[in-house]
Amino acid sequence: MPSVAIAGAGLVGALNACFFAQKGWDVSVYEFRKDIRTMKHVQGRSINLALSQRGKSALEAVGLKEYIVNQGVPLYARLVHNKDGKTYSRQPYGKPGEHIVSINRRHLNEVMITQAEKSPNVKFFFEHKVKSVDYDKKQLVVQCTSQPSRIPTFGTKSPPAEHEEFHVEADLIIACDGAYSAVRRSLMTIPRFDFSQEYIEHGYVELNIMANNNEFAFEENVFHLWPRGHFTLIALANRDKTFTVTIFAPFTEFEKHMSTTEEVLSFFEENFPDAYLLLGKEHIADTFNRVKPQSLVSIKCSPHSFFNNLVLMGDAAHAMVPFYGQGMNCGFEDCLVFSETLEEQNNDIASAVQVYSERRVNDAHTINDLAMYNYEELKDLVNKNSYKLRKKFDGFMNAIFPKSWIPLYSMVTFTRIPYSEVVDRRRKQDRILSNLWKTTSTLALIGAAIGIYSNRGRLGL
Ligand code: FAD
Repeated sequence: MPSVAIAGAGLVGALNACFFAQKGWDVSVYEFRKDIRTMKHVQGRSINLALSQRGKSALEAVGLKEYIVNQGVPLYARLVHNKDGKTYSRQPYGKPGEHIVSINRRHLNEVMITQAEKSPNVKFFFEHKVKSVDYDKKQLVVQCTSQPSRIPTFGTKSPPAEHEEFHVEADLIIACDGAYSAVRRSLMTIPRFDFSQEYIEHGYVELNIMANNNEFAFEENVFHLWPRGHFTLIALANRDKTFTVTIFAPFTEFEKHMSTTEEVLSFFEENFPDAYLLLGKEHIADTFNRVKPQSLVSIKCSPHSFFNNLVLMGDAAHAMVPFYGQGMNCGFEDCLVFSETLEEQNNDIASAVQVYSERRVNDAHTINDLAMYNYEELKDLVNKNSYKLRKKFDGFMNAIFPKSWIPLYSMVTFTRIPYSEVVDRRRKQDRILSNLWKTTSTLALIGAAIGIYSNRGRLGL
C-alpha cells in the first residue's frame, strides 16, 4: 500500500488521516502539539465552529457525519439584536429546515483522531514539529520535541532522540500545518510559487455566556448577531447550554475604547446591552484583563501542489477570515476533492496532485474573497433595506426557479457547487437583475410619457 505523511493533526490533518485510513494506506501524522485528548486546556482559536454542507459531505465520506452533527446545535437563522437590547429581527438562512451546525472544535478534532487511529496503519506522532521540506529528497524534515513515546515506522530506520531531526519519506506528503505552515514557508523560494497574505484591521476576543439555571440564556437555534458598523458581536450556542461570544473590532477600537476595565464595560453596556447583562461585568473584565485581541489573516497561494507528491490543504493553502464560516468547511472539502481526484486518476499520485491543484486554487481564492466580502454583510449590510430586499427577491426567485436561482449564501453554505462557479452564477443573477431593473425603469418612463401625452389637454400642455 502507498504511504502518506501528514503535517499537522488539526482539523484538516486529522480528517485526511481518516480518509487515507479508509483507503488502507500507511499513514503517519506529525503534530507539533501534545495529544489534545490528554490535555486539560487546549489553547487556540474559536471554541466552536459552524459546520455546513461542504464539511458535512466530507465527514459523511468517512462515516462521521451523523455522529458529529448529533453532537452539535443546529442554527436556522440569524437573529439580529438591535442596540436597544430589546428588539430583534430574524433572517432565516435558507429554505425552511436549512441550517448550519455549531460544533465544538476540540471535540471534533478528538473524534477524528480517534477514528483514524482505529486503523492499524495509522500512526500519530505528537510533539513532533515539521521543520521543512527537503526539496532534493522530497521528504519532510521533522523534529521530535520531547522523548518520543512511539517509534515511527514509516520512512525512518531508527527512533529519533529528543530534538533530533529526521527525514520522513512517503509516496505522498500533505501539509495541513495551518496558516503559518512550515511546509509552505520552506517552499517559498520555488520559482513561480505565488503567495500573498493580508492581516485585516480587525481582531477578535472570545467570551462565554453561562447556562441560566441549566437552560440556554438566549434562544439556542439561531446565530446571534449584534452588527454595529465597524465592529460586531456574535454568539453561537454549545451543547452544554453555554454560548461562545466573539467580538470583532478594529485593533484601534480595542485600544481606544476597550483598554481599561471601565472602558470595556461601558462599551459593552452601550453597544450590546442584552449580551452585557448575560456576560456579566466580572467575566467581561476578567477576559479583557487576561486576553489580548487575536489577529485575523487571509492567505492565498498558488499552486497547491509540488514535486508530484506534495499538496497543501486547509489553512496551509488558504487561511481566510472567518466571516463566511467556511475555513474549516473548505479545508474539509479539500480532503474530499483530493480523495475524489485520486480515485478519478486511478491512484496515480503525480497526476492527482497536479489535477487537484488546478481544480482547487481558483475555488480557494474565491472563497477567500467571499469571506472578506461577508464581513461587510455581517457588520452592517444585514441592517440595510437594500440587503433585505435582495434577500427577499432571491428567496422569491428561488421558489420559482429552485435549481437555477439559488441565493449566494445558500450556494456557499448548503451546496457543493464549486466556489468559483458560485460567483459566476451570482454574477449572472446580478446581470439579470440589472437588466430587469433597466427594463422596468424604461417601461415606467415610457408609461409616464404616454400618460403625460394622453392627458396633455387636461394638464394644459
Ligand atoms: P489548524 O486548525 O490551524 O491546524 C493546524 C495543525 O497543525 C495544528 O494542530 C497545529 O498544532 C499543527 N502544526 C502547526 N505547525 C506545525 C508544525 N510545524 N509541525 C507539526 N504540526 C504543526 N471555519 C469554519 O468552517 N466555520 C467557522 O465557523 C469558523 N469559525 C472560525 C472562527 C475564528 C475566530 C477563526 C480564527 C477561524 C474560524 N474558522 C471557521 C476557520 C477554521 O478555524 C480553520 O479554517 C481551520 O481550523 C483550519 O484547519 P487546519 O487543520 O487547516 O489548520
